[in-house]
Amino acid sequence: MTVDGAIWRYQLTATERAILSRGRGTVGDPRPDILVVGGGIMGVTTSVACLEAGLGSVLLIETGHLGAGATGGAGGLLIPEPHQWSDPEPLVDLEKASLERWREIDSRLPGGVGLVDIDWIGLVPHSGGYAAHQSPAIEWLSPGQVARLIPGLARPMDGALTRHQARINPLRAVARLAAQLPAVATGVAATGVTVHGDRVVTVATSAGDVHPGAVVFATGQPPVLDGLQLEIPSERVKGHLLVTERTPIELPGIVAPLATQIEDSMLLAGGTLDVGDEEPGVQPEVIESIMRELAAALPAAAGVGIAYQWCCFRPRHPDGRPVIDRVPGLSNAWLTSGHFRTGILNAPATAAVLARWISAGQPPQEPATWSATRFAAHTHLCVYHGLHSRAPLGYRSR
Ligand SMILES: Cc1cc2nc3c(=O)[nH]c(=O)nc-3n(C[C@H](O)[C@H](O)[C@H](O)COP(=O)(O)OP(=O)(O)OC[C@H]3O[C@@H](n4cnc5c(N)ncnc54)[C@H](O)[C@@H]3O)c2cc1C
Repeated sequence: MTVDGAIWRYQLTATERAILSRGRGTVGDPRPDILVVGGGIMGVTTSVACLEAGLGSVLLIETGHLGAGATGGAGGLLIPEPHQWSDPEPLVDLEKASLERWREIDSRLPGGVGLVDIDWIGLVPHSGGYAAHQSPAIEWLSPGQVARLIPGLARPMDGALTRHQARINPLRAVARLAAQLPAVATGVAATGVTVHGDRVVTVATSAGDVHPGAVVFATGQPPVLDGLQLEIPSERVKGHLLVTERTPIELPGIVAPLATQIEDSMLLAGGTLDVGDEEPGVQPEVIESIMRELAAALPAAAGVGIAYQWCCFRPRHPDGRPVIDRVPGLSNAWLTSGHFRTGILNAPATAAVLARWISAGQPPQEPATWSATRFAAHTHLCVYHGLHSRAPLGYRSR
């Protein structure tokens, strides 16, 4: 059981579930102003942003169902503040801006996207564990304060608290956003591109040719398409997650690294980084280790059953930062890929950057940070002009 074992689909209404398979197998108008390839969180938010920017007709195509990739298996945590300890500054800035955008989308969209405001508490075995960053948004907790918030911990812990972070069911967000889109084709794969001069004139798909004004590739990892050779180094990092059965344990939000309180008295735990595991399926021993660690820190969790377990693959570039760029050598094609651990969080801000670039010709601030060519020694970009030909897999390690 892989991403389809995730709890998120089971929390949806029948209408939301149906939206994930909209427009199965048919592309409708083959001459959209904007074609977005990839129906994960990046593709869906980018499609909505392009529509809202007045860029004309937008067609979104997805080879499986919407959210079939990393998006459908993500934890759905939107926590920019704690990432100050792990992510470079420009990425944290993008994350903070993106959480603001999620809040704005949630309040503006009819019915919202299901965003839940939630506090984050990081447990540290000794004081000073997080001391390198002293953001004003972080409140330091003594072991006594931690014990009052989280009764039943196996041993005293210091803590770091940051309020007003958020979480979403990523598939619900995808469904609510995709409901705004006039043209969605699921079960349709892009297979190749034809380029004339510096423009993509045709995108070949499994449902026929599409002739877009501009195209955005939001395929998780850089796309592998005939006629477009993008040798941007990229890999996948597998992760496992689980949701417990109902339990009387009640956590005051996201308690890192233990678990997150979610709906119906259940806990979400895991988010492992299973580097080198390319097996598509859930590894029972990884699930067992997640439960073992939870019970070691919180003995009341021993014996709690598991209701859902799944795994998925995070797309990643070697420096852990995403690519948000125009495809080098092309004037009407853009690319976003490699969002690794924060793609759900970063989707609205990334989408806004792309829509602004396409509509106003305005690239992002600090373009080098997100550039497709920053892996200089390893990166070779070339486009086969005017013909289809098989692109080698290049540096892809999947
Ligand atoms: C275990 C785990 C936990 C995570 N937790 C979080 C979290 O708590 N918060 C957070 O912000 N992020 C989290 N992430 C990361 C997040 O899931 C990803 O960064 C994000 O989903 C990437 O979105 P995407 O749209 O770029 O890629 P994807 O979701 O992979 O979407 C790409 C889509 O493109 C489609 N596609 C590919 N090629 C083609 C083609 N040729 N034609 C048509 N369609 C195509 C694929 O089918 C896929 O649906 C987690 C990831 C994992 C694995």
